[in-house]
Amino acid sequence: SQKLAHNQAASKPSFSFEFFPPKTAQGVQNLYDRMDRMHDLGPAFIDVTWGAGGRHSQLTCEMVNAAQTRYGLETCMHLTCTDMEKEKLDGALELAYRAGCKNILALRGDPPRDAEKWEAKSLEFRYAIDLVKYIKKNYGDHFDIGVAGYPEGCEDDTDPELLMDHLKQKVDAGGTFIVTQMFYDADNFLNWVGKCRDKGIKVPIIPGIMPISTYAAFERRVKWVNCQIPQVWFDKLDPVKNDDSAVRDVGKDLVVEMCRKLLDAGILHLHFYTMNLAQATQRILDDLNLTPEVTGTPLEKPLPWRQSLGK
Ligand code: FAD
Repeated sequence: SQKLAHNQAASKPSFSFEFFPPKTAQGVQNLYDRMDRMHDLGPAFIDVTWGAGGRHSQLTCEMVNAAQTRYGLETCMHLTCTDMEKEKLDGALELAYRAGCKNILALRGDPPRDAEKWEAKSLEFRYAIDLVKYIKKNYGDHFDIGVAGYPEGCEDDTDPELLMDHLKQKVDAGGTFIVTQMFYDADNFLNWVGKCRDKGIKVPIIPGIMPISTYAAFERRVKWVNCQIPQVWFDKLDPVKNDDSAVRDVGKDLVVEMCRKLLDAGILHLHFYTMNLAQATQRILDDLNLTPEVTGTPLEKPLPWRQSLGK
């Protein structure tokens, strides 16, 4: 398997899928079936998320193992470091290592939901950068280490300059790629990428794309991450908000348009928050002519996502 940050060959844009551990055994089986099918779409890699505080950590590990060894998918395991037993963290890294997984998205983790004013419990792991350093110390260059980026800011830091400083520090400590929070404003994202480059952040920046399934989910997620929505999105989605099928069609077109803008600007890798569903993501990829069925070309390896370095 390839390490994500070391793929240099480029031709056409690449993409990746994010999955989370389902709550039930049946859900897990369904997801494996879906993973198997989505494998045929030719993702450069898939991500498996990590429950903050280590919730469902065993399942994340199992999914990473299955994706790598059973389905032959290049896998990136998410890992958080705060409010969690260190054994869980060590166990997950060891398992990922043994499964042949070479990519970790190193995160701090969301504060516990019930904590009003939250402070990390351990001094060793207070921020994502502590995890980046820990992985480097224990595994050298084995893992490519991704870090999270926030083109529209995040709850903890309202000061974008400070947030950018912290992002740069994570990269300087060993982060080899950045995956962003979801957004729907392409111009804002591209502007932010420019600022990252001005700051001397040179690693690939992968945009996080959230397909639109229903109006309610769209609204909920936008509120959750507090992201900006260009007015035209409301103009197009609002009139059809009670018709799920129309929302899916209009939402797909809007997301496709956004992705085209990113690709035209030289971003060559798209990361999809699939929410464990295949269809919405597949329709976007079909429209972008990125799926093998449409292009008729065989799956390419090594995968070209690292070329998103260009912007
Ligand atoms: P950090 O980079 O540590 O930043 C957290 C805050 O601390 C920021 O405001 C930063 O500016 C500030 N900060 C950093 N360093 C310092 C310093 N030295 N001094 C003072 N302040 C500092 N959560 C999960 O639980 N599981 C997942 O699988 C998961 N996947 C994610 C995937 C992506 C792409 C993204 C964008 C987020 C994901 N999250 C996940 C959410 C993430 O854990 C939260 O957003 C969390 O609140 C911040 O994590 P971080 O890694 O960005 O933290």
